[in-house]
Amino acid sequence: MTILVSGGAGFIGGNFVLDWLRQGDERVINLDKLTYAGNLDTLRGLNGDNRHVFVHGDIGDRGLVDTLLATHQPRAVINFAAESHVDRSIHGPGDFIQTNVVGTFNLLEAVRGHWDGLPGDEKPAFRFLHVSTDEVYGTLSKDDAPFNELNRYEPNSPYSASKAASDHLVRAWHHTYGLPVLTTNCSNNYGPYHFPEKLIPLVILNALSGKNLPIYGDGQQIRDWLYVRDHCSAIRRVLEAGRVGETYNVGGWNEKPNLDVVHTICAILDELRPKADGTRYRDQIAFVKDRPGHDRRYAIDARKLERELGWKPEETFETGIRKTIEWYLGNQDWVQNVTSGAYREWVGKQYEVQ
Ligand code: NAD
Repeated sequence: MTILVSGGAGFIGGNFVLDWLRQGDERVINLDKLTYAGNLDTLRGLNGDNRHVFVHGDIGDRGLVDTLLATHQPRAVINFAAESHVDRSIHGPGDFIQTNVVGTFNLLEAVRGHWDGLPGDEKPAFRFLHVSTDEVYGTLSKDDAPFNELNRYEPNSPYSASKAASDHLVRAWHHTYGLPVLTTNCSNNYGPYHFPEKLIPLVILNALSGKNLPIYGDGQQIRDWLYVRDHCSAIRRVLEAGRVGETYNVGGWNEKPNLDVVHTICAILDELRPKADGTRYRDQIAFVKDRPGHDRRYAIDARKLERELGWKPEETFETGIRKTIEWYLGNQDWVQNVTSGAYREWVGKQYEVQ
């Protein structure tokens, strides 16, 4: 059996592919465009493992996606591919529309063609799982209940608007064409292999290199944090047992203001890697001008996933953040390659790039 994953060289997709192959032998076809966020160094442990087939390409390339589906006959397609960084979406929204909206449309059309052509007895088992974000729901004030699956979509950034559009397309392809889709809307992830433009890896790496730890505005923006491997287990569970056409919110019940997250990281670093000059990492915090349209609070009600599918996260924020920091301290070669861009040169050497 085979699954097709898009965006499997990114942060969550990469962790998912590694977890998937750790847990079973089902082959993974990994289609990734290798934007700045795609990093094959994350998957170097799979080098020579024929259960993993990497394909360098774009979900917007219909001919390529059609060929992959026809050649490999996957039993499921999981769509991680996206432009995912809110700040970048503010400065250049075009790529977000292209990949997140047009790319998802293209993938849906290719998958629909493939699914239509499956023999009747294979159709019921096929799934298209779309990985999305809690940011589609907009922002909450302090006393609002966490987002559940019935909340209205109110996206506020070009990123969340493009993801909201993709979620709507996925929904419509189910209702109109009967495509067996599932959608997950997850809160902020953190963990190994996270590109260092995002808050948690940025703070860890800046702290270690003596740079400022930039905090937007007053640092009181609240996010729910989920350890990435818990997100991966939720996706596996939804793929296995989710009801077709449904959406499932995924979260860690870990609401934290950004400033608290940074203080926690600093305190763990003080313990694990004390500074030689006796100063503390939190002294490096620097408040910077807030991001335009910055959502104040996200919180996820993940009870549907718990109730219907029995999923629960394994990590608390305290255990997950410690594991994450230990991972960054122990994997400086991965960090060096990302920050130096050396992994790009590595691409051509290790894999056949189409
Ligand atoms: P990421 O930016 O780390 O990785 C995205 C991957 O997609 C990269 O490998 C990139 O090369 C690839 N890609 C981009 N455009 C492509 C295209 N046109 N065709 C093929 N591949 C393409 O993102 P991530 O953090 O791993 O997020 C994965 C998915 O999960 C996204 O859909 C994102 O919206 C969603 N999500 C992320 C978070 C989070 O906290 N990171 C939370 C909830 C949901």
